[in-house]
Amino acid sequence: MAKYCGAVCRLCRREGEKLFLKGERCFTSKCAVEKREGGPGQHGRRRQGHSDFKIQLREKQKTKRMFGMVEKQFENYVQQATKKRGVTGTELLQRLELRLDNIVYRLGFGQSRAQSRQLVNHGLVLVNGQRTTVPSYRVDIGDVIEVREKSKKNVTVIAAMESASARFIPEWLVLDKAGVKGSVKALPTRDQLPQNVREQLIVELYSR
Ligand code: SF4
Repeated sequence: MAKYCGAVCRLCRREGEKLFLKGERCFTSKCAVEKREGGPGQHGRRRQGHSDFKIQLREKQKTKRMFGMVEKQFENYVQQATKKRGVTGTELLQRLELRLDNIVYRLGFGQSRAQSRQLVNHGLVLVNGQRTTVPSYRVDIGDVIEVREKSKKNVTVIAAMESASARFIPEWLVLDKAGVKGSVKALPTRDQLPQNVREQLIVELYSR
């Protein structure tokens, strides 16, 4: 599956807002969104069009990039959400939030979703005591996510947890900082899901 290997700050500049793809740096004055105006590239400062399609497309691209996904993967999430009862947009965001790599990030074991994904890929994360190496694994209510015993002193994990202490841990998660583990207390409601995403625009884009 094709993977974006370019400079991630360009992605934030393209969307015109912070997507928090780099961990601690995103909270400093070195953040490229704060330092440089306009989109990336030679024509980054040009006025952009504002058609409905363009607005919907940008919202989709922003969300996809925030969660570090490629097009096909993201499309599958939209399709799965469409098949469910209830509000499609909320279902979509809920599914994205319940990915294992995202939960590891939300609990603060990784500085960014990309780093959290790496922790999962490298087998440092256990779900209910079982090593799970699939970043897209869907976590459920009551599941316990923890860093395996021998990696609890891993410098990457310790540094991430230190920088995450300033970050907000969502109410639907429970963190046991000393045990480097956490669990899902409840499914996130819409007001506990990312507020900077207008999910209805994404649903509209895919229903064209
Ligand atoms: Fe985005 Fe973080 Fe880079 Fe800022 S530092 S542009 S928030 S990835």
